[in-house]
Amino acid sequence: MSIFKPVLLLSCLNLFLLPLYKTAQVADVPVYSGNDLGVNYTPAKTTFKVWAPGADEVRLRLYDAGEGGNATFNEALNRNESGVWVIGVTGDIKNRYYTFQVKQNGKWLLEAPDIYAKAAGVNGHRGMVVDLKSTDPAGWKNDKKPAFKNFTDAVIYETHVRDISISQNSGIVHKGKFLGLAETGTKNTAGQATGLDHLKKLGVTHVHLLPSFDYNTVDETKLSEKQYNWGYDPLNYNVPEGSYSTNPYNGNVRIKEFKQMVQALHANGLRVVLDVVYNHTSDAEHSNFNQFAPGYFYRMNADGTYANGTGCGNETASEKQMMHNFMVQSVAYWAKEYHLDGFRFDLMGIHDIETMNAISSALHQIDPTIIIYGEGWTAGNSPLPEEQRAVKKNTARLNQIAAFDDDMRDGLKGGWNDVKAKGFVSGAPGNAESVKFGIVAATQHPQVNYQLVNYSKNAWAAQPCQCINYVSCHDDNTLFDRLKISNPNATEDELIRMDKLSNAVVLTSQGVAFLHSGAEFLRTKQGVANSYKSPDEINQIDWDRKTKYHAVFNYYKQLVWLRRNHPAFRMPATDMIASHLTFTDQVDPCLIVYQIKGNANGDKWKNILIVINGNPASRKVKLPQGSFTLVGDENSVNEKGIRTGVEGELNIAGTALYILHN
Ligand code: CA
Repeated sequence: MSIFKPVLLLSCLNLFLLPLYKTAQVADVPVYSGNDLGVNYTPAKTTFKVWAPGADEVRLRLYDAGEGGNATFNEALNRNESGVWVIGVTGDIKNRYYTFQVKQNGKWLLEAPDIYAKAAGVNGHRGMVVDLKSTDPAGWKNDKKPAFKNFTDAVIYETHVRDISISQNSGIVHKGKFLGLAETGTKNTAGQATGLDHLKKLGVTHVHLLPSFDYNTVDETKLSEKQYNWGYDPLNYNVPEGSYSTNPYNGNVRIKEFKQMVQALHANGLRVVLDVVYNHTSDAEHSNFNQFAPGYFYRMNADGTYANGTGCGNETASEKQMMHNFMVQSVAYWAKEYHLDGFRFDLMGIHDIETMNAISSALHQIDPTIIIYGEGWTAGNSPLPEEQRAVKKNTARLNQIAAFDDDMRDGLKGGWNDVKAKGFVSGAPGNAESVKFGIVAATQHPQVNYQLVNYSKNAWAAQPCQCINYVSCHDDNTLFDRLKISNPNATEDELIRMDKLSNAVVLTSQGVAFLHSGAEFLRTKQGVANSYKSPDEINQIDWDRKTKYHAVFNYYKQLVWLRRNHPAFRMPATDMIASHLTFTDQVDPCLIVYQIKGNANGDKWKNILIVINGNPASRKVKLPQGSFTLVGDENSVNEKGIRTGVEGELNIAGTALYILHN
């Protein structure tokens, strides 16, 4: 999420702010390096361990339910070393709910679950003692991830658990639930595939889910009422969201159903990415962090107020050891327990580079094929100095972590800060170099003039796997709405051509390709840009659009499969791109022509020629020597060939991308 948009040029302001937390340690706060904080269950005894370095006293309460009723157990924990408090409870207390309460400076803080809680009751106010093995669906042990080799092989599809199934025409039984994404055989009104089957046909490799950990704003006791949120308001980081389960009152259900969803997606060839939001909490005052170590987990301004680089009222402090440890352990837990295949970091620029690299190491030790990427910016200024931030310009210092390429995104459709601005696909000159920048995946290439790229003036990706290419995501208007707003006089047919051209560029570019759910049939949010709490009517996927715009869906599908079948579009190394991909100089500001030569990355096609015409009018382009097969034009992509024996001069339709090979 970036409600408040990337603020890219704030480094000078840092000079005037006191860098309060320069190093990982904060003086006189003891840290604990173990990875056993939280609840450790066995049938014979359960151990509760929390870190509360300034506490005078810590109490544990047990309850029979996730809300209401009186505590059946209320005992003080024992103080250990390093700020840790511990208590063991004998007997089998599986499925009992619990809270901690810390007394600090003579004052009792709020009852809360520990920050490591793995299960919770309704609305996440109490933790639950969980026997994780009992939450495994049948066959979970044999769950197998779909094959995946290079990070650049990923075609990511960003969706929201509720959006994808909630509409009446989804044909999905478990609407708005994790289980909705586990259903196969579902169809829209006209009998076309929806949900999981649709994704499988489209050919994407990774399903990226908007926040699906336990978030705050949707009241899980009122699920019959219409409620909606994107989920960027974290409550319990290690617990799945209750409103996406069929029973938020029983802490086991959401865990099991999340696993069932992953299992079904895996079984159908799709990997799963979770959007994680460690950069802020829903509310600082009431957060679980602040009930154990008030203030510690956040960055503060010099005047004692909460720093707000997230635009959400607070920002966490990954450079402090216990926050750093928490993040590393939390993602590792999700990767292991839920078999996740990737993580997308919201406002990654809030986090420090060292922490992000530690996360990368921990995850890649568990599974070297896990993909990690994030928003390489902050939403406002942060006390963390820019050189320590995991921002886009520092991507080369991040190890196997990618950033979103807003340079090409805005080059294609127009800048984010002016919704009426046109981009390359609408025939606006001055954007070709930003598009070329994305074509080479933000890497160093001898034929890109970085001075002309709209935001970045140099290659920020050391390797192509560090660049996520996209033209739209959940933030802002959908691509189709944006094009409509910025091209008020265009016909629907013209808008469709611009839409198709936008993602045709993304899907033929080097780097990692990323699609926003529903773009493949011209999703609309009715012009609502920041729809984070808009009703289903705005956010839901309208599956009948798949029928209405079936030709658009087919075009997207053909492009995705072209990319998957042709490794030349997914070169894994910067050097390989620089040596195989060459641009042909153009005088026309809305024309880009390039070739990928020499069976790049083992492709069966020897030479591939891509011509991109952002002009609304057609252009004649002189082809290189030889006879080409046309495999893609403004209407379709057909790997077997639309037309053979193409030589000399070729007429390229307006607002179109042509693909040829010889
Ligand atoms: Ca919740």
